[in-house]
Amino acid sequence: MGQLDVDVVVVGAGIAGLSAARTLVAAGRDVVVLEARDRVGGRVLNIEIGGQANELGGQWVAPYQTCVLAYLRELGIQLFPSFRDGSHVYVGADGVARRYDGHDAPLGDVSDAAYAVAESALDAMAKELDPEAPWEHPRAREWDSITFEAWLQNEVPDALARDLLRAWVAGGFMTKPAHTFSLLQGLWVIAGAGGVYELFEPEQCLAYRIAGGSQLLPLRLAEDLGERVIVDAPVRGIRWSEAGVEVDAGHVRAAGRQAIVAIPPNLTVGIRFEPALPGWRLRLEQALSQGVVIKVLAVYDHPFWREDGLSGQGFAPGQLVREVYDNSPPSGEPGVLVTFLAGENAEAALRLDPAARRAAVLDGFASYVGDEAREATDYIELDWSAEEWTRGAYAATFGVGGLTRFGADLRRPIGPIHWACTDIAGVGHMHMEGAIRSGEAAAAAVLALL
Ligand SMILES: Cc1cc2nc3c(=O)[nH]c(=O)nc-3n(C[C@H](O)[C@H](O)[C@H](O)COP(=O)(O)OP(=O)(O)OC[C@H]3O[C@@H](n4cnc5c(N)ncnc54)[C@H](O)[C@@H]3O)c2cc1C
Repeated sequence: MGQLDVDVVVVGAGIAGLSAARTLVAAGRDVVVLEARDRVGGRVLNIEIGGQANELGGQWVAPYQTCVLAYLRELGIQLFPSFRDGSHVYVGADGVARRYDGHDAPLGDVSDAAYAVAESALDAMAKELDPEAPWEHPRAREWDSITFEAWLQNEVPDALARDLLRAWVAGGFMTKPAHTFSLLQGLWVIAGAGGVYELFEPEQCLAYRIAGGSQLLPLRLAEDLGERVIVDAPVRGIRWSEAGVEVDAGHVRAAGRQAIVAIPPNLTVGIRFEPALPGWRLRLEQALSQGVVIKVLAVYDHPFWREDGLSGQGFAPGQLVREVYDNSPPSGEPGVLVTFLAGENAEAALRLDPAARRAAVLDGFASYVGDEAREATDYIELDWSAEEWTRGAYAATFGVGGLTRFGADLRRPIGPIHWACTDIAGVGHMHMEGAIRSGEAAAAAVLALL
């Protein structure tokens, strides 16, 4: 293939890159999207189970995700409510499984009260932040100087309440140990969703799934873009000047007046920029790292837990399998349970050989829904940190102090090079919503310059 000449070269066909390209094409611009993998979608990936779509990457859509909802409507993609009927299960430190209904796991009166106070403290701080610029808050430096763990130890007098909040923020979103990131970084993901209700409550953050699987969203976006999207095209080099870019993706070369690099910022070190990017950007990239998460799906002939009055949803902050949900297709057959081994739990699980890990995870499922969980007909796992073109998930985040040192530069363009991806998004930070918003924002910035 010779050199393509376009207005804008987009690097990466995840939701951010595709959203950027869609916006540019709608404005009448020539675009090419270069994607390293042999597929589009990045951190969103369908898998077929029993002839029906399921997911190994991002999947749930929350009501606050208004851009995702609008795209799905425009693309004619249906949603269905996640299955959550029946009782949920909480497994406490004593290993006893307790059924409960409604929002709150039964921690006991003292822990419940401590949890409620701490949760509203987090909510209040998060709501003070501008999700687009949390580093600008008057107390940003103070909140960025202490670890999330230190905040828990200082402010939450109850161990169980601390365990649950640590499980949500460190395990559920940051996918890193709570002593490795700051209170401010933890607050950013809460602010990006609009508050703890939107982010922590399963009926909000896990409200809907996408019929046909979440990868349908990027697949349809790519379908509309047609030949403008080129897969198997890992970008290895970008020569740039104020006049434009020349992008080297092996068998494809593209020249553009502007570029949008829509890949997680921890991956841009794999691209040789000529001239080299400025020092501030190289330091920023070194200060970021991805969390680690393994998504696991276990398959059963039918969702047997439903016959026992269980929703399939459960939490156990002290266990390897810290969370479980019913991930069966809308037809209800086959039954599918899903969990996410994240942060320290993922690191521990990855030290086990695959058979031992499978046994440990199925034991974990059994602690919520009974022994039948050990008889899975299929067991599927994906360690996102072993994916060359992602290297972790859910997002790249800073260590203590990083957000206030480097946050303001996260989206700062360099000559004709602009940045997009959920990792640098404000609203919808770390989620599909952030990917769309970040892609559209980069496209708008580029359009203003063309
Ligand atoms: C297990 C898991 C569960 C999740 N759960 C949810 C959820 O329930 N709800 C939700 O909203 N979000 C969820 N997310 C997050 C969501 O999937 C991401 O926020 C979103 O998909 C990120 O999109 P993106 O375009 O910003 O980045 P990516 O999807 O990472 O896209 C970047 C693209 O760039 C490509 N690329 C990288 N380097 C190069 C290169 N050098 N040259 C060319 N191409 C390159 C990659 O292959 C990739 O396709 C989850 C993610 C994971 C992994």
